[in-house]
Amino acid sequence: MGHVELAEKIYDSKRENGNLAEIRKLADEAYVRKTDTHKLQGQALEIWLKNARKMDEFLRKPAEEIKEYQLSKIRDLVDNAFKYVPFYRELYTSCGYELGGIESFADFERLPIVNKQILNAFDASKIVNDPACLAAANTSRTSGSSGTPFTVYSDDADIILDHLQVLRFYNSCLKTPLQENDWVYMLHHAGLAFSSLQGKFRTFQLPDLLPDTPLGEHLLFLRPRLLVTLPSYLPLILRHKDKLRASGVEAILTNSESSTQLERDYYSNTLGLPVFDEYSSEEIGMIATQCTHGNYHVIEDGVYLEIVNTDTGGFGNVVCTDLNNEMMPLIRFDHGDVAKRSISNSRCDCGSPYASLEEINGRRDDAFRTRAFEVVPSASLLAAIDDVLITPDKTLKNFRLVQKGSETIELITQYGDKPHQDMANILLQLQNRISSLFGYPITLLHQNVDMMPKQKSYKRRSIVREWEMS
Ligand SMILES: [Zn+2]
Repeated sequence: MGHVELAEKIYDSKRENGNLAEIRKLADEAYVRKTDTHKLQGQALEIWLKNARKMDEFLRKPAEEIKEYQLSKIRDLVDNAFKYVPFYRELYTSCGYELGGIESFADFERLPIVNKQILNAFDASKIVNDPACLAAANTSRTSGSSGTPFTVYSDDADIILDHLQVLRFYNSCLKTPLQENDWVYMLHHAGLAFSSLQGKFRTFQLPDLLPDTPLGEHLLFLRPRLLVTLPSYLPLILRHKDKLRASGVEAILTNSESSTQLERDYYSNTLGLPVFDEYSSEEIGMIATQCTHGNYHVIEDGVYLEIVNTDTGGFGNVVCTDLNNEMMPLIRFDHGDVAKRSISNSRCDCGSPYASLEEINGRRDDAFRTRAFEVVPSASLLAAIDDVLITPDKTLKNFRLVQKGSETIELITQYGDKPHQDMANILLQLQNRISSLFGYPITLLHQNVDMMPKQKSYKRRSIVREWEMS
């Protein structure tokens, strides 16, 4: 029996700490997911070795073929939810849905939109297709910026597919695909479903990056091909620039927080490495990823994405349908994010036939709104900050922009030493930039602090809207 147990022990990525005490300590704090078992890793590996090429080809199929695939997935998903999930049964019955009622996307898009609050009002047994499976199901629980905890249940097949879509994204950021013995380095509080696939395609995870973390030394030891990080860590990563370059890392990937193209371009140029961004959610998994040409393409075999209730600027609510979670169907699920589709309809130079997302503005409550409740793009606000505050000055350590009212914005700054000597002029410039984005005059308040006020969420939020339209 002894050798069987030994064989089933999972590969311990954390062991590869290069004998660096700080790395060992931090790595040990990483949360190990329940899914990270030898058995599931093996299943994922088998599917990956068999399907990697097919998965890669899928995203370059003609648009009509992808649409056809999605419609058949959606048809089954809705019918199964209607048959087996009490919540959807009731919801769809009340709007006159009948089995087999989806013949087109237009039919589908007439179904009601759901969200976290609506689903949370029901007992878990009412929102899954088989309550008997609940105890053994995989769960991911999110608090989100809204502060409402929400649990998503999914089966092993869904977890595996999500992981393989992540590996596919990794490959798309590299000139040659990941080999079995390659490492991916993660600076992220949330790791992947699998720390490796039975010792292959390994990830090393640090849940946090501290000022004294010997990241450079460890990168030189491990020589990973990719570095996956929260955008918040990019300034700290910059301190390890030389060792990072020497370690052979080929690209940096960001996710979980919104960052601007301008910010990413800055780090890309300074570090001499491409930076690719990923848009994902705990509920759905990966939603869209940036290609080598900078466009965000939707993960069409994972999610059916709609942008609804668009305003005059083209921004609307992101509504997602998870094409693969049959256990707890998320059908026309509104995340509370706002995004804008790109207008171009031609095939991207990367080979994707699909229209892409031009801009994603994170959680809805992060985006500023005019008095007519139109979205003021966060990227434009951050670009204004970049131009006016960041570019001419190196002593700014932190900032936050808070919308207090329809006409009032507060800038909070934390300078390393004392505030910029020409602060009055800077504030005036910023006020003018923001006013032009709003389309009417804005009052800009300013306070400089020694320490940034605490935020509820772990995510960095530099754009915070406190004002709600009454
Ligand atoms: Zn592309």
